Amino acid sequence: MKAMVLQQIRKPLIFVERDDPRPSPGELRIKVEACAVCRTDLHVVDGDLNDPKLPLVPGHEIVGIVDAVGYGIDSAKLGLRVGVPWLGHTCGICSFCRTKAENLCDRPQFTGYTRDGGFATHVVADASFAFDLDANADPVSLAPLLCAGLIGWRSLRKAGDGKSIGLFGFGAAAHILIQICIWQGRDVYAFTRSGDLAAQQFALELGARWAGSSKESAPVPLDAAIIFAPAGDLVPIALKAVRKGGVVVCGGIHMSDIPAMPYSVLWGERELVSVANLTRADAVEFFPIAQMVGVRTHTTTYPLKRANEALADLRAGRLVGAAVLVPEAS
Ligand SMILES: [Zn+2]
Ligand SMILES: [Zn+2]
Repeated sequence: MKAMVLQQIRKPLIFVERDDPRPSPGELRIKVEACAVCRTDLHVVDGDLNDPKLPLVPGHEIVGIVDAVGYGIDSAKLGLRVGVPWLGHTCGICSFCRTKAENLCDRPQFTGYTRDGGFATHVVADASFAFDLDANADPVSLAPLLCAGLIGWRSLRKAGDGKSIGLFGFGAAAHILIQICIWQGRDVYAFTRSGDLAAQQFALELGARWAGSSKESAPVPLDAAIIFAPAGDLVPIALKAVRKGGVVVCGGIHMSDIPAMPYSVLWGERELVSVANLTRADAVEFFPIAQMVGVRTHTTTYPLKRANEALADLRAGRLVGAAVLVPEAS
């Protein structure tokens, strides 16, 4: 197999060739067709998240074809297309796992963080955490659904049923979520970094009612806001933008510190919540909805060997939509 490997945090990934991994009991080996690049990959590479497995193959928005199965897995799985998300394994017995909150598992494994991920030609995954995907769809288009889509969906569920939704940070997650929001009949207000006219234009093309910088005020009080950008100073801004009783959801795994703010910003039964990881139930719900809506992802593809470039483009805000790595023919 070939892979882009993180040997040391804050260093570029290194291209390596190694023996193909063998699936253990209950696991699948997947020949990777596409793996999208998520902001969480940047947080892993940059050392914002504690104790990554090292050396590590990052990547947790994996689409590929099952090419080997471990003991206990039906060989009928061979040749099927599956997707592997961030949540790679849960213990199944902790209080969270037993109460339908496996996203909060006490002993989880995360793809591309505590187990090897999809910046590679091959990856091994727990079969219970690999989702069947449409064999006829384009793997590159599907890849961003595995995290940007799933986490976006979970964030939207947390945001409630309000009609006017603010999306702070208009990247991979927001560009998928806006399509679902509009299909649901909601109005979307898109907030970007100041001066990011490309992202604002993109949001308007996808049907946003309004797009502007997060320094501007929304034209109407929002029912809810979802923050995808990893910037804690957006929290008081988003709280000020929502009406009484409104909800602000932090959709990212890492955020810079939230500045001190007067209590009046939260007062009025406004709620501030975070979204952590995903559950398999989220995926069961989300994939059919994405298919029904006809979600179209906007992607920029990179050969596997250029993973560092994809990460740099994401870091610099140069992307419109999602970056997707495509392993060279191997
Ligand atoms: Zn658990
Ligand atoms: Zn992710």
